[in-house]
Amino acid sequence: MQSRGQVGRMTTSHTTPADAEARRAVAPVICYPVSTLPAPDLDLYARARDGAVKVGEWIAAPREAAHFRVAAGQFFRITSIEGPQVGDLNLWNAADPSERFYSGKTRALHGSHLSTGDRMWSSFPHLRPMATITADTLDWYGVDEFGGRVHDVIGTRCDPHTHHLLSGEDYHHCCHSNLTRAYADATGLPVRDAAREVHDVLNVFMCTGFTRDTGQYFMKASPVRPGDYLEFFAEIDLLGVLSACPGGDCGSEHSSDTAPCHPLLIEAFAPAAGALDGWVSPPRNGYSGTHGR
Ligand SMILES: [Zn+2]
Repeated sequence: MQSRGQVGRMTTSHTTPADAEARRAVAPVICYPVSTLPAPDLDLYARARDGAVKVGEWIAAPREAAHFRVAAGQFFRITSIEGPQVGDLNLWNAADPSERFYSGKTRALHGSHLSTGDRMWSSFPHLRPMATITADTLDWYGVDEFGGRVHDVIGTRCDPHTHHLLSGEDYHHCCHSNLTRAYADATGLPVRDAAREVHDVLNVFMCTGFTRDTGQYFMKASPVRPGDYLEFFAEIDLLGVLSACPGGDCGSEHSSDTAPCHPLLIEAFAPAAGALDGWVSPPRNGYSGTHGR
């Protein structure tokens, strides 16, 4: 017999089996145990960071994006200034734009939100660490009562296509468009070509999760305050682009000019000569690439 019911946002029309609870009670297993994942030497990075000197500074203006280059072995820091603000980060191998940040695999390896010791992994076939998070002043936040955490790799980026789908309107300062214009400026590509290179982001400072009842992606006002920062060690030569999201702290809405929006500061730091002795830039992934043929 069939009966219509409701599970979360979904209407059900199939009979619940007698052993449903037993099936639900099966314990999960971690998809990717990371015990064999090469671990970063955070102590070495900390010692190298101690004597590092500032070598670059950029500002992502509100509702715009900035592009920046950081050499392998340098650090870069994204800092909240002036007011609570979320940033959308894209990374490319500076010498080979086909190698770019792979948000989905990073999520599968480290979890839905990143913090110190986690790494930003690159796309296939390269699949290697592009950057390692070395400091996170919001690491105290943990998980809140709604399941919210900070710095997610689940939210893709706000974009004008979804906005048009939902509202029928054009808006040109979504993170996707900001990233596109900045990547075009960095590379000389026309914006239509640059748009194809923009990829799913690390949502810096953004506080997000999935609702437990309906499984929907949610955001809430970021706990970030001026002076907070997220710092990275560049494992390879990087081209980065950071958008100051039009949602500001993402506490109400994005894809509009109504939310208070603030700039984000990006800085690069170079360690002293010899400070990274023992470290080597990670090689590309070792898979043969033959796919069985
Ligand atoms: Zn955005």
